[in-house]
Amino acid sequence: MTAEIDARIAHLLHHRKTGLALGEPIVPPISVATTFHLPQTQGAMHSYGRAGQPTWDAVEAQLAILEAAQVVCFPSGMAAITAALMCCLKAGARVMIPSDGYYVTRLLGRDILQVYGVDVVQMPTLEMETADFTGFQVIYLETPSNPGLDTVDIAAIAARAHAAGARVIVDNTTLTPLLQRPLDLGADLVVAADTKAPAGHSDVLFGHVAGRDAVLMARVADWRRQSGSVPGPFEAYLVHRGLETLELRLSRMCASAAVIAERLAQHPAVHRLRYPGLPGDPSFKAVGGQMSNGGFLIGFELSDAATAESFLSRCPLIEQATSFGGVHTAAERRARWGDDVAEGFIRLSVGIEPVEVLWQSINAALPS
Ligand SMILES: *Cc1c(COP(=O)(O)O)cnc(C)c1O
Repeated sequence: MTAEIDARIAHLLHHRKTGLALGEPIVPPISVATTFHLPQTQGAMHSYGRAGQPTWDAVEAQLAILEAAQVVCFPSGMAAITAALMCCLKAGARVMIPSDGYYVTRLLGRDILQVYGVDVVQMPTLEMETADFTGFQVIYLETPSNPGLDTVDIAAIAARAHAAGARVIVDNTTLTPLLQRPLDLGADLVVAADTKAPAGHSDVLFGHVAGRDAVLMARVADWRRQSGSVPGPFEAYLVHRGLETLELRLSRMCASAAVIAERLAQHPAVHRLRYPGLPGDPSFKAVGGQMSNGGFLIGFELSDAATAESFLSRCPLIEQATSFGGVHTAAERRARWGDDVAEGFIRLSVGIEPVEVLWQSINAALPS
């Protein structure tokens, strides 16, 4: 597993090399053209910018190496999620989504899918392990869930879903294909917000759908062309650059998260700490199996909203921001978005700061 991933990371860094002619740039050009030389309709690489263009090709090639699958890129994680769901559902169909997952996915279910006649059933992530999938066309998972960090067995769910005639879509944003590979475990499609760790610098929105069924992936590409849900070339370039350092950043972030989680767990003001990489955590069972490590997200509770807000504002090395996976450590109180968590619940996304300095600033900001 590790040797295979290492080979993929090395390949990603050199993926353009074989196609380069003498004197061509090592990094992909930001290609801004919307139109391409097209004296006849057959055989051209590109025809019109909404259907495909060279900078998307470069980032899709990198992601295809990591996913070992076909990849279609999108202007945001939500655009990718919408595409995947719309390509697998139609009026009268039924989809199961997590009630404790990314909240905008629930809004998409309620305000868009439901309006177009899709039956959207919400289910807590942990209950999906035993839920009856009869009558469903799509089982949509987020594991670990955001922000609760609960996990379910992807392979077991995929086997049961397929037996019931349903497809499985996994939102793999919290781990990326370097730490978890749902397609290898039987998922039909992976969706992800590359806005988070893959781009990694909190300066670009991006997403992708990955899959190994060529017919289904052609539908996803058609969805992008027909709905016009297209990323810009500058954004694609930034994601391409970010992906080159993803493994390096993730190594630091996950190693630091393990240290910080262990120390937070010992702190008297910290309650109900969740970190999948910590022995004793309910999600620890997935680590070393479907997850290669515990990731870089930590959840914990302080006694109430005011205590949590005061901690966040007192810590100089925590950006008070929504979102995660960036180079800066960031955290927020998730109850402010209506997530079903305690008022004092904090989701901490560990960044790339040297860990001892980071821990000192967190420890100093915690209530004594
Ligand atoms: C951020 C996020 C999304 C949405 O991504 P955007 O790029 O903001 O549209 C989807 N799923 C999860 C788990 C996320 O964290």
